[in-house]
Amino acid sequence: MNVEIGEKYPKTLLNKGTGFLADYSHSLNPYTGCSFGCSYCYVRQMPVSLFRSQEWGTWVDIKKEAANLLRKELSRAKAKGKVTIFMSSSTDPYQPVEFKEQVTRALLEVMVEDPPDFLFVQTRSPLVTRDIDWLQRLGERVRVSMTVETDLEDIRRAFSPMAPPIQARLKALEQLKEAGVPAQATIAPLLPSSEAFPRLLAPLVDRVCVDDYFMGDGSGGKRTRSLGISKRYEELGLQEWYHPEAYKIVLERMRRIFSDDQLYVSQNGFAP
Ligand code: SF4
Repeated sequence: MNVEIGEKYPKTLLNKGTGFLADYSHSLNPYTGCSFGCSYCYVRQMPVSLFRSQEWGTWVDIKKEAANLLRKELSRAKAKGKVTIFMSSSTDPYQPVEFKEQVTRALLEVMVEDPPDFLFVQTRSPLVTRDIDWLQRLGERVRVSMTVETDLEDIRRAFSPMAPPIQARLKALEQLKEAGVPAQATIAPLLPSSEAFPRLLAPLVDRVCVDDYFMGDGSGGKRTRSLGISKRYEELGLQEWYHPEAYKIVLERMRRIFSDDQLYVSQNGFAP
């Protein structure tokens, strides 16, 4: 798919953490738009997407001069109190354009020079391993949250064909572990998965977060419903997985391998 890449010069980068991210002082998005274009992405229903004529997933704006802006904002924010940052809430900081543009890498560099109290890096892209050097330097102040919504590649393809394969994400988790970078597997939004899923994750992480559309889309599942996602489940004959209780199936399977203090549900799994 063709992705239209634009540029913008933002006035601010650090936004106040609100709603689902109320545990954070700030959220940080290196880009506007996301070329992974996942079918279930709740950002599709947010103003950033609704006020745009192009389809979500087909455009990305690069935030120019982002590192300089962050340097100033971070130092001002730190002077006022504790700074905890969620990167990113409405884009993937390691989507393909980052390979060349390196906006996220430049922001990380700023945060290594002047560390926030905590940085949560939310991605589904193995490109995050390119920045292991900076992430290591943040020590325990960082956690990488790698989205792995399912262990089944055909399910991943049915819901987010433009996103990286599951195997590549698992490999990235392995590399993060070897490098000693704190990380978690984030099964969110959970998609249909197999009994073998917990055994796949066990050697890679000691922390797993499970979340679904109903708890995690910021509207009790309404935004996801308006995307017509239930139709996709019907087409696949997997309607039983589109249910507010379905997360319990995955959670129970995870409990066979992981202890309770390694398992997190919804917002708790994203907290600093
Ligand atoms: S990677 Fe995240 S932000 Fe990007 S389309 Fe998928 S769900 Fe949305």
